[in-house]
Amino acid sequence: MQGKADLHLHTKHSDGSLSSQELVERAKETGLRIISITDHDNVAAIDEAIAVGKTLGVEVIAGVELSATVGEQDIHILGYFVDHKNDVLLEHLQFFRHERFKRAERIVEKLNDLRVPLSIESVLEQAGTAAVGRPHIANALLEEGLTDTYHEAFARYLGYGKPAYEQKYRVSPQAAIELLSSAGGVSFIAHPGTNIDDTVLSELINAGVDGIEVIHPSHSPERVAYYSGIVSEYFLLASGGSDFHGGKRNDYDALGKYYIPASQVDLIRHRL
Ligand code: AMP
Ligand code: FE
Ligand code: FE
Ligand code: ZN
Repeated sequence: MQGKADLHLHTKHSDGSLSSQELVERAKETGLRIISITDHDNVAAIDEAIAVGKTLGVEVIAGVELSATVGEQDIHILGYFVDHKNDVLLEHLQFFRHERFKRAERIVEKLNDLRVPLSIESVLEQAGTAAVGRPHIANALLEEGLTDTYHEAFARYLGYGKPAYEQKYRVSPQAAIELLSSAGGVSFIAHPGTNIDDTVLSELINAGVDGIEVIHPSHSPERVAYYSGIVSEYFLLASGGSDFHGGKRNDYDALGKYYIPASQVDLIRHRL
């Protein structure tokens, strides 16, 4: 199959800013033939995206981005071709979203202890019905004038090791991979270049991931070559995409720029 595929996109059902419809329309405009929506702990965008995709001629693959814990580190695992109506998957996602809500409350308490007067209500206003995450808290801090920039919110308060940092509910990579597999999907290590060293990378390969996200805005050409080599060496699959979120991140130029050839999606499909 010919054309471009972007297998890493967010909507307002997680920390993205666009609706499913708006995202699929933009994908079409930027010349993408295949996309996967990979919201954090949520598949609520998928049905509408598939329907809009059908009218526009964009294939939409059901995806999701899960978090897992390795040591003290939070890593991300992308699932593709999951059955987004699978009961076990939906129950787990709902549980993860509830844990995210409790964590947001703990982060707000920490901020209040630091004399930063943020309310949980203003965070939830940012999140809407989405899986609440630190990006929503950063947006709320910005909205309330409690920080000057989105990135400052992470650098001062929310980032790993900063005073308002709170861990997520702990999920082992094995458990995340099994959950995706039990819903009929395949699993990929997301953006390893951001925080995954070689030891953790081989741990994840041993845990049974199907592939690696090779193409990502955070990966230099050297990183891309490095992960391509690992994919070949271990007979893994390669995925890639823009990790587009929109809104205050202002990453609109990433759409259509970070992609894999559609033929690589066929290779993923064959592995199912
Ligand atoms: P969460 O899932 O709530 O832990 O939020 C994780 C998201 O926050 C990541 O996907 C990034 O988009 C964003 N993020 C994490 N650390 C930083 C940072 N230091 N600067 C900016 N954004 C960050
Ligand atoms: Fe995100
Ligand atoms: Fe991620
Ligand atoms: Zn993402």
